[in-house]
Amino acid sequence: ASTHSYRGRFAPSPTGPLHKGSLIAALASYLDARAHSGQWLVRIEDIDPPREQAGATQSILNSLQAHGLYWDDDPLFQSTRSDAYEHAITRLHTDGLTFACQCTRAALGPDGCCNGRCEASSTSLTPPTATRFRVERATVISTDDGVQGQQSWPLGQDAPDFVIKRKDGLFAYQLAVAVDDAQQGISRVVRGSDLLDSTPRQIALMGALGYDAPEYSHIPILATPDGQKLSKQNHAAPLADQTAAANLREALDYLGQPPPPTTLESPVDILTAATTQWSEAAIPKAMAIIA
Ligand code: GLU
Repeated sequence: ASTHSYRGRFAPSPTGPLHKGSLIAALASYLDARAHSGQWLVRIEDIDPPREQAGATQSILNSLQAHGLYWDDDPLFQSTRSDAYEHAITRLHTDGLTFACQCTRAALGPDGCCNGRCEASSTSLTPPTATRFRVERATVISTDDGVQGQQSWPLGQDAPDFVIKRKDGLFAYQLAVAVDDAQQGISRVVRGSDLLDSTPRQIALMGALGYDAPEYSHIPILATPDGQKLSKQNHAAPLADQTAAANLREALDYLGQPPPPTTLESPVDILTAATTQWSEAAIPKAMAIIA
């Protein structure tokens, strides 16, 4: 993709305030976009109401601004995108790429959903049912990740026939992200490596919907001492917006970037220097443990 058409994004779920780990993902996607003179969009992934926390969206947007991370355009809210997601499912359905399924995860056999039983009898199922995307068993998805290098997934064996609309009527994360990244014209996705496993499913969906997939860079994530992803669920401390400059310096260090001149004090000045110095090649591949 040519430099001027670069479009990146940060896509937080409003399940809680930003923490150190999410700042790193926001910062890396921001700097990579700005270093390519590209646009940087924010998308609020509010399609799972039971997991949301009241006030989280505003707190995330406030924190981004406090850190000088100003986005282009208005943030896109996935909660407004049901028609687009439904449309995508209809298209996949018309192409014979979906089927209804009532199985639990435990019932999924080695040959895909319920060893083909749902696929054979999907019309006789009574709602509520989940909608699955049909994946040919021989499907292999590859991408050259900007940080993790060449990746290749036997998707048909690893994650056959995955859910795109849940039994409870909510759209699955994989579908929403694939549709939005494609329709927003995102050219490069920079995000945490905990989402590397989701990438082949999103690429497969975009291909089935007739879109080119973006390029990807998966940055290492922060983990707790027992190897778990640092997350809102395991009580990562919220970012202190009052120490934005120090937070940015710490995140830059984690991303392997050279320290901006110590004379710079404002978040915007630090970001400007960091954009000039940005080197994707300097990002470490492995995740770091923090206490
Ligand atoms: N909303 C997802 C999360 O907060 C990230 C989605 C993405 O970057 O693709 O974990």
